[in-house]
Amino acid sequence: MAKSVKLSHSDELRESSRQQVFDAIREAGQIARIDIAQVTRISPATVTAITADLIAAGLIEEVSPDISRGAKRGRPRVALKIRGDAHTIAGMKLSHHAITTLITDFEGAELVCHEIPLPGGQLDPDALCEKIVTALDESCAQGGLERRQISGLAIGMAGVMDADRNFVYWSSSLNVRNIDFGSYLARYLSMPVFIDNDANLVAKAELLFGEGDKRSNFVVVTVEHGVGMGIVIDNQIYRGARGCGAEFGHTKVQLEGALCQCGQRGCLEAYVGDYALLREANVTSGVERHKDLASLYAAREAGDIMAQSTLDRAGRMFAMGLANVVNIFDPQMILLAGAQLAFGYLSSDKVVHEMRRSVLQVDGPLPEVRVHGWGNKMWAKGAAAHAIEEISALRIREVSGHAV
Ligand SMILES: [Zn+2]
Repeated sequence: MAKSVKLSHSDELRESSRQQVFDAIREAGQIARIDIAQVTRISPATVTAITADLIAAGLIEEVSPDISRGAKRGRPRVALKIRGDAHTIAGMKLSHHAITTLITDFEGAELVCHEIPLPGGQLDPDALCEKIVTALDESCAQGGLERRQISGLAIGMAGVMDADRNFVYWSSSLNVRNIDFGSYLARYLSMPVFIDNDANLVAKAELLFGEGDKRSNFVVVTVEHGVGMGIVIDNQIYRGARGCGAEFGHTKVQLEGALCQCGQRGCLEAYVGDYALLREANVTSGVERHKDLASLYAAREAGDIMAQSTLDRAGRMFAMGLANVVNIFDPQMILLAGAQLAFGYLSSDKVVHEMRRSVLQVDGPLPEVRVHGWGNKMWAKGAAAHAIEEISALRIREVSGHAV
């Protein structure tokens, strides 16, 4: 094998094996070489060689054997773990009114969490870049860090984007379409930057840090200013051919229906997004009675029929959309997350019942619907996890390059 001509295919295989070994260590927390071989089905000799390279590159380290848990006879097994101080990583969530930044070590342990306000609405790319830089610098200062110590930054934002090339087709945070936002940010920041849809990063956070039963097939539906979705199939985020899949908010629920912020009509989001609800509630009453959802919700609680009808219709539309998702993907679980769910009109028993009624009826359990109380920090943690994965892949590629 050693004498064989190095083909790019074999280099790819080596790189893929390194990534598999690295991922197995990260997933386990601490794991012995022999167990890595078992999990990855890579030969023990190859695992030993790969782990030696990863140790030399400073990405992983040996952990002193725990004598009390070690083998009764013979040498206790040496475990391997990710080297936490190998890199410092930043994850960001851009929401409509704030940027939440989480700085972590390479194992994902929190170092700093910081939030700055955003003016809201769609910003000029330069203005948004400046806000991102401010958010990062303030977070670094809070942790006694310098910006140059950050090895990579991942940003989760609402909209349609191709994460592979950091290209934003459209976002409710930007006032221009079709922008190579990764290159744009590179003018402001010298570290690698990765951009992804925020709902995908919630899905990533659930995959890596979720509590309770681990699911390998699930969907995350986020409801904030708009409606987003992350689809996980066999533990992988499904992005679609152009990277713009899972735009649940823009699935059509009404022919020639209400106008959506994407420019089309009849999108689900145009019936359940906060802007849509306020538009409906204020248009029907003729004056701007409600400035935010809290006001509309309070009116409903106080028995206002107009508010009741607006929110009930949103709930029914949402249930119909969820039922369509179940009929197409048959997920094990639907995870609902986002600021609007605090008001409950999209996650009530009534909505879940309505969804279950519209799902194709078979003799099998229906997916569990779980409401996530995560705040912005968990979304930022999903972004940090994305950055950790991307930086790992970059460094492993470097190790592979050096090893040829
Ligand atoms: Zn739309």
